[in-house]
Amino acid sequence: MPLSAEQIQINYLRIQEKIHQTALKCGRKPDEIRIVVVTKSQPLEVIKAAIEAGIRSFGENYPEEAVGKINAIRDVEGVEWHMIGHLQSRKAKLVSTYFDWMHSLDSVRIAEKLERLLAEQNRSLKVLLEFNIGGEISKYGWSASNPSRWFELLPEIEQIQRCPHLQICGLMTMPPLSTTLEEAQGYFRKLRLLRDFLQERLSSLNLTELSMGTSADFPAAILEGATMVRIGQAILGPRDYSRG
Ligand SMILES: *Cc1c(COP(=O)(O)O)cnc(C)c1O
Repeated sequence: MPLSAEQIQINYLRIQEKIHQTALKCGRKPDEIRIVVVTKSQPLEVIKAAIEAGIRSFGENYPEEAVGKINAIRDVEGVEWHMIGHLQSRKAKLVSTYFDWMHSLDSVRIAEKLERLLAEQNRSLKVLLEFNIGGEISKYGWSASNPSRWFELLPEIEQIQRCPHLQICGLMTMPPLSTTLEEAQGYFRKLRLLRDFLQERLSSLNLTELSMGTSADFPAAILEGATMVRIGQAILGPRDYSRG
């Protein structure tokens, strides 16, 4: 059974409260942290319930799945769509047309493809650079587990800076599955340090955003400076993959 708008609102308020407390605990301003509500594999009725509960920022992993939902609620004011999953080149057109944010930019090739498509449509896209901080082999994002090699990342980021329709706003990571909270916090800290490293060397950039933390570990991410947390199940309930 999908959750009701009332239940979604209760969950949303509870998460907002936890974010608030965690921010105050570490001397941060609660309003600099935004919640992206992850709707992948949730049916349209859940998104409509989320709208009723006052939610306006949504995250999706698969552009094809997202487009139907985006079109269905296109008349609702103030809605923002965030692409958070790995993007295959042939789906780039959908992202350039329908999304406001792309958290999962992970190659120069995709950046340049998005740039061409955005230029054609006279649109721009806010992007975050995705890094693989945990060093797993089967993971997307630029490999960044070894700080002594971080300088090797600079040339590719400089190439992406030359795409005028991409606005580079910060960094994103997803820690390895099955890490402890303590380990996750270590990965989040490392992403923040990587941000500081890049910011110092690429001073024309404004790397203010850190997209990190999910239902399982968002307080740890906030302690390490997250400005965007990507939360699905803790607000919308379990995903129902049987509905496709
Ligand atoms: C699914 C997903 C989330 C949300 O996970 P929950 O456990 O539902 O909070 C966050 N980020 C990414 C990249 C995801 O794929």
